[in-house]
Amino acid sequence: MANRSIAALGSHCALQLLKGAKDEGLSTLLVCEKERLNLYKRFRFIDDIFAVDNISEILSDKCIERLQETNSILIPHGTLIAYMDSDQIEQINVPIFGNKWILRWEADRKLKQKLMERSNLLVSKAIESKNDIHGLCIVKLHGAAGGRGYFTAWNRESFERQAIRLKEQKLIKGEQDLFIQEYVLGVPAFLHFFYSPITNEIELMGVDRRYESNVDGLGRIPAREQLCADIEMSYNVVGNIPIVLRESLLLRAYQMGESFVDTSKNLVPPGMNGPFCLEGVYDKDGNFVTFEFSARIVAGTNLYLSGSPYSDLVYPEPMSMGRRIAREVKIANEKNMIDKITS
Ligand code: ATP
Repeated sequence: MANRSIAALGSHCALQLLKGAKDEGLSTLLVCEKERLNLYKRFRFIDDIFAVDNISEILSDKCIERLQETNSILIPHGTLIAYMDSDQIEQINVPIFGNKWILRWEADRKLKQKLMERSNLLVSKAIESKNDIHGLCIVKLHGAAGGRGYFTAWNRESFERQAIRLKEQKLIKGEQDLFIQEYVLGVPAFLHFFYSPITNEIELMGVDRRYESNVDGLGRIPAREQLCADIEMSYNVVGNIPIVLRESLLLRAYQMGESFVDTSKNLVPPGMNGPFCLEGVYDKDGNFVTFEFSARIVAGTNLYLSGSPYSDLVYPEPMSMGRRIAREVKIANEKNMIDKITS
């Protein structure tokens, strides 16, 4: 079997992905913006760097040729999703790890909501119109915005006031660019899963929560100032914090992951292969209310470069999500099953 390289765009979780690939003995290729070379050239596990002026050049003939020549498998991550639309991703003429068709379901809020609801998850409800806002809501921009510009609203007026601000800041063209969802009070948690279509098994690889600015800073000022100062809210992610779930929550976590995988097989064949994340809030009764999913590796997995409390239960060696992906590629390559794990 010809050797495979693992390729990634230089951002998000590229270091984890390529380190994991090297740990599994695979070659690595980074497509990297020139201004970031100074960071990425420090790491010896990166064998080859294809430098570009900007990320969109990953679609250029030259870059595609390099990916093909090196027999690369491209691992999609949040930056690819943020900078490219679904049509562009689907047209990349290089094997993409997992199911690239499901990335469209991640990008489109309506499809996203449908997949979550059909998976029998408790889901935070979408609110169709600003006139239907009758309780606390979170208002989101479309796409993987990393929480930037998100705000809470509790009635039509508070929604409109903040929508105007986003328009002035040129973050949106109009209210049609906003998605309104019921706000769930509780503890946010991001559950990282890996599903292997080779073994048909699901693995919980880790859990994190995000550290978000400025919402996580609000509790550091007294209530009086929170009320008086005209504070603009945002959920801009700046980092991730590890979480270990109480053990009694684990059974349901696996069930949710399995149910999501089963449903995706019917709705978006061949289904949710590879890494994915269920994102939600544990409410006061310990129920997980899902507000989002990511159909690819999430940056929260960067916490577990040396394995997590969950991967340690399954693997004798430190198993990051990046390494788990590379191992899947290695096994599939040996068994002549690359088509099953890529699209
Ligand atoms: P990414 O695409 O990078 O995963 P995103 O831009 O889609 O992120 P979300 O994950 O939807 O952002 O949300 C960002 C943050 O907003 C979450 O970490 C959480 O704190 C908060 N949040 C989102 N939806 C809800 C909800 N329904 N109820 C309560 N909090 C929420």
